[in-house]
Amino acid sequence: MQYKRSSALFAQAEKVIPGGVNSPVRAFGAVGGTPIFIKKAHGPYLIDEDDNQYIDYINSWGPMILGHAYQPVVDAVVEKTKLGTSFGTPTEIETKIAELAVSMVPNIDKIRFVNSGTEACMSAVRLARGFTGKDKIIKFAGCYHGHSDSFLIQAGSGAVTFGSPNSPGVTAGTAKDTLLADFNDLDNVRELIKANTNEIACVIIEPVAGNMGCIPPQPNFLKGLRELCSEHNILLIFDEVMTGFRLSKGGVQQLYNVQADIVCFGKVIGGGLPVGAFAARSEIMNHLAPLGPVYQAGTLSGNPLAMAAGLAMLQALNDDAEIYKRLEEKTAYLHEGMARVLTENKVVYTINRVGSMISVHFSKTPVIDFKTAANANNDMFKKFFHGLLNEGVYIAPSAFETWFIADALSYDDLDKTIAAVETVAKTL
Ligand code: PMP
Repeated sequence: MQYKRSSALFAQAEKVIPGGVNSPVRAFGAVGGTPIFIKKAHGPYLIDEDDNQYIDYINSWGPMILGHAYQPVVDAVVEKTKLGTSFGTPTEIETKIAELAVSMVPNIDKIRFVNSGTEACMSAVRLARGFTGKDKIIKFAGCYHGHSDSFLIQAGSGAVTFGSPNSPGVTAGTAKDTLLADFNDLDNVRELIKANTNEIACVIIEPVAGNMGCIPPQPNFLKGLRELCSEHNILLIFDEVMTGFRLSKGGVQQLYNVQADIVCFGKVIGGGLPVGAFAARSEIMNHLAPLGPVYQAGTLSGNPLAMAAGLAMLQALNDDAEIYKRLEEKTAYLHEGMARVLTENKVVYTINRVGSMISVHFSKTPVIDFKTAANANNDMFKKFFHGLLNEGVYIAPSAFETWFIADALSYDDLDKTIAAVETVAKTL
């Protein structure tokens, strides 16, 4: 593969965009090298500016669950665009997507649309604070909830990839209200609640973590959190920005049968356009302006093009009774194939998977939290990443990310991927 045009475009971008990118992980900082500039994509494939083609396991970091340029989404956006791109007034399509989302996800009556996952989580926490009248929040080390100040305390994803888990610019005043717990450690949460009696507004969690690689909740961890929260009048926020509409129609709440108080969405719900949302039962949502005192707003929130893309995406998922079963089977097939070739080549690894989220850590111990994820062999991951890229397989350029499986992937694509993993495994 040659990357002549990508390299030239990156050099040009670096002059006018910090680091040449508009979101840090894209810069390949964790794996070395310079980023690839993508020209177009269709189905499971990306095509870069040098006309190299890749099987894509990033899928725009999650949204493209049905593959790129999915026709119903493209058509919906094109048609809407002809009618004008933004009005700043209510539109019918906002109610349509809200009704559909509320019908698909358990335990929510109302939903508010925003423009990103960051906004969704930030607003959810403000709402939780407003609703409970308490200030502190508990988050988990290695979980990423966007780049709002309160969350940049031992965050996962790019925040850890770039070695600044506690970002400058977050004030001590803000940081003191964010308490940190270890993922999968209920005792830790219990201790924090005890040490901060009547001060904690909410616990926010990625109920299946995806920002330190994929880390499933251990049995009864989520149920235990639910009980602790109910006992202490704390709201439980599920950040389902990654998992929502991906792991099941109703997300993790449905998959593990655990009820959250507020749920955050992003990625899939926007079909590839900039959309986030947060939702809860009416009692909580009615605290938001204009009904209640908790302020939250957005010039482009509920934008018609974004809503058209999101609605077409949710409809496609809602109408396909087999979609989550198919995604599960494809991902399990990839899982088994990769495990086989890595084992045959004596590579030390751990593969974690829930539904269509999967990741490979080069670790001989189970990866169950941030510490165990951070202990994996990152040098080996770098080689793995570049080896796969060279074979035409594009995975996230950091071990602290999840691979997303799209339904557009065929078994032939999966076989090619397993063959690529085998080729690279021989070099590790
Ligand atoms: N929450 C989770 C679980 C995420 O994975 C992300 C983004 N990867 C966010 C929140 C933030 O979303 P956005 O990048 O759209 O602001």
